Amino acid sequence: MTIPGSIVPPARLLMGPGPISAYPSVLTAMSAPLVGQYDPFMTATMNETQELYRQVWATTNDATVLVDGTSRAGIEAAIVSLIRPGDRVLVPVFGRFGHLLTEIAERAGAEVHKIETEWGKVFPASVIEEAIVRVKPTLLAVVQGDTSTTMLQPLDDLGAICAKHGVLFYTDATASLGGNAFEADAWGLDAATAGLQKCLGGPSGSSPITLSEKAVAVIRSRAKIEAGIREEGDPDAADFVRSNYFDLGMILDYWGPRRLNHHTEATSMLYGSRECARLLLAEGRDAVITRHEIAGAAMLAGVEALGLQVFGDVAHKMTNVVAVEIPEGVAGDAARGAMLDDFGIEIGTSFGPLHGRVWRIGTMGYNARKDTVLTTLAALESVLRRFGASVPAGGGVEAALDVYAGV
Ligand SMILES: *Cc1c(COP(=O)(O)O)cnc(C)c1O
Repeated sequence: MTIPGSIVPPARLLMGPGPISAYPSVLTAMSAPLVGQYDPFMTATMNETQELYRQVWATTNDATVLVDGTSRAGIEAAIVSLIRPGDRVLVPVFGRFGHLLTEIAERAGAEVHKIETEWGKVFPASVIEEAIVRVKPTLLAVVQGDTSTTMLQPLDDLGAICAKHGVLFYTDATASLGGNAFEADAWGLDAATAGLQKCLGGPSGSSPITLSEKAVAVIRSRAKIEAGIREEGDPDAADFVRSNYFDLGMILDYWGPRRLNHHTEATSMLYGSRECARLLLAEGRDAVITRHEIAGAAMLAGVEALGLQVFGDVAHKMTNVVAVEIPEGVAGDAARGAMLDDFGIEIGTSFGPLHGRVWRIGTMGYNARKDTVLTTLAALESVLRRFGASVPAGGGVEAALDVYAGV
């Protein structure tokens, strides 16, 4: 074969539901030189990154680390480490990622009980409490922001409900963290996981996780293999976490003061994750959320002014993504293709019942900006017109500019 040249990706503005274009300094951080697994600089950087993520999560949890892998690595680590086969898990499903939590919990051997609501809606806390009383689960696993529907499940009342009924409380905050309020301690979370490729503004490949003392106690109560390799005489396998890579007991022993060898921390991802958290905290947690709120409001006003119908309960929408119905007669996938080919802008469709029915447009992390919002709306107007929709000239851009003028 002819050997290809070095990688040269096309210029893209990623305005879909994630991944999004990374902050330039995150990419720079990721190209910094490597050091050894136990180099004092490495362990100091791990400690520093833990401290940064404690602030991102708003927690004092000692057990705040990264799981190497995409967001679902964190999800799987949390569920497989907290659940023993046969445990009951309650999953309120309001989109695709609720089904993912269900699937992962089932593979971990849990007896999963789902409650479902229509896509485009969230659950009142009372409905979740009723299900907890009926099911008596060990764990409540709920998505905070489900990108498939753009909905944001309120979590602030669920921690007290879980504590009252002796249930562990886990959330997948991948899509929402950094662009919407998140308070791990104040909301009583026992476990929360995320990824970098949404509002945190990095590439996928590292999953921040935080665990309460109660969650750590559950993990520590399970049978352990100290060095990560089974030896004769080790206790019976029944109670072991059903994964070596995702055994949070071992991952915590590697990040903790004992520094027991487990995996080799993905150094470049560590640098990138550190930079994502550093940027967020340097800008300020509240300021970042406000920037997402404004960009989201401007995009919402823009798509509405283009005559597009917004999908779902807008009062419970995440700040950082909007779904719009593809207008009658417009070929959705071909129009999305034109956005990419002619303008270099990526937007998304959705999954399951919404595939081909909606487009999802994100304003997250580095791309939660005025110029990206305006450029996307201008391109969308042009594409919609070329694909046969009648759209008011300049309406989307004007409406978005008005939002920016009002703040
Ligand atoms: C985007 C997203 C994920 C992504 O998982 P990956 O393993 O990083 O692809 C997980 N959960 C939610 C809620 C998401 O929105």
